[in-house]
Amino acid sequence: MNRIEIIEKIEKNRIASSEELAYLLETITDEELEFLRKKAQKTALAHFSNKIFIRGLIEFSSFCKNDCFYCGLRRSNKNAVRYRLSKEQILSCCKSGYGLGFRTFVLQSGEDMYFTDEALCDIVEKIKSLYPDCAVTLSVGERSKESYKRLFDAGADRYLLRHETADDEHYSTLHPSEMSLKNRKECLYNLKEIGFQTGAGFMVGSPHQTYENLAQDLLFLHELQPQMCGIGPFIPHKDTPFAKEKSGSVRLTLALLSLVRLMLPNVLLPATTALGTADGKGREKGILHGANVVMPNLSPTEHRTDYSLYDNKICTGDEAAECIKCLSGRMQSIGYKIVTDRGDYTEK
Ligand code: SAH
Repeated sequence: MNRIEIIEKIEKNRIASSEELAYLLETITDEELEFLRKKAQKTALAHFSNKIFIRGLIEFSSFCKNDCFYCGLRRSNKNAVRYRLSKEQILSCCKSGYGLGFRTFVLQSGEDMYFTDEALCDIVEKIKSLYPDCAVTLSVGERSKESYKRLFDAGADRYLLRHETADDEHYSTLHPSEMSLKNRKECLYNLKEIGFQTGAGFMVGSPHQTYENLAQDLLFLHELQPQMCGIGPFIPHKDTPFAKEKSGSVRLTLALLSLVRLMLPNVLLPATTALGTADGKGREKGILHGANVVMPNLSPTEHRTDYSLYDNKICTGDEAAECIKCLSGRMQSIGYKIVTDRGDYTEK
């Protein structure tokens, strides 16, 4: 089967074999990528028209008990500046975000055990009582099924937990031995079973990644059927073991966004900050390749640079109001518009 036939097969069946996917990713030409992009854009337009959902990202703690080799928040990074927002500070981010039109708040942090189930449930309940028309998304890493259930019962609607890579061996080159892909996947299945709109995802071009690994990522997404999917290029952080590694390719990230759009037509798919960091027009390109979500930062500006996952992260100096203005303009420039809908996952 040639590459155009593989793309057509994916559009029709929403799946291809691991070999076909790896071959397509490794050898796709610019013309074929444009063919794929158009199909992905058409699919996104059919489901969301030219509307782009926004999520207000609140990075509420930079403490982390994990030691992932790629991440600037890893516990071994002694240069990392650690901070934690108080409940009041988080609520104040929500307040200004609400005023700016945000109807989804994404609470993201390192794995910070200071935030017990009680503490997190209290924050979620408070946000949901103050803003009953808003969705709360959590992105706080691996926890027990009981913990996830408590957070869901407290009112959290969605949960983001990228699987990072769906290959066991590759996973072990990115993480210390106390972490496992098995546990990560179990967390994702638990989240889905509990009823969260669940997001998986992976980095593109992380060290040691092969095209076969990326094919595995796509097959895992097909199996999990997540409601959301976060994909961004790997970008090195100077104080990690991967400081000297190369960044992931923007072109390959865009191809993967398009493939995910064809495989999961109604998935909520962000054009990520990492993509915008790797390429000045990365987020616009992401939307044109099938993404339908952007996630501007609502974190207090005084802590922005301290939530440092990778080097040169964009938008660390801007107030939320400036970010949304800038993004609105960027989306308009390519014929799209930011909307204030909650932007829940829908089957149709
Ligand atoms: N502790 C939470 C949030 C992690 S940060 C969790 O475990 O889910 C969110 C995402 O940033 C990670 O899942 C990872 O895919 C991405 N990330 C981390 N370091 C990165 C880097 N150096 N380059 C690009 N993306 C990175």
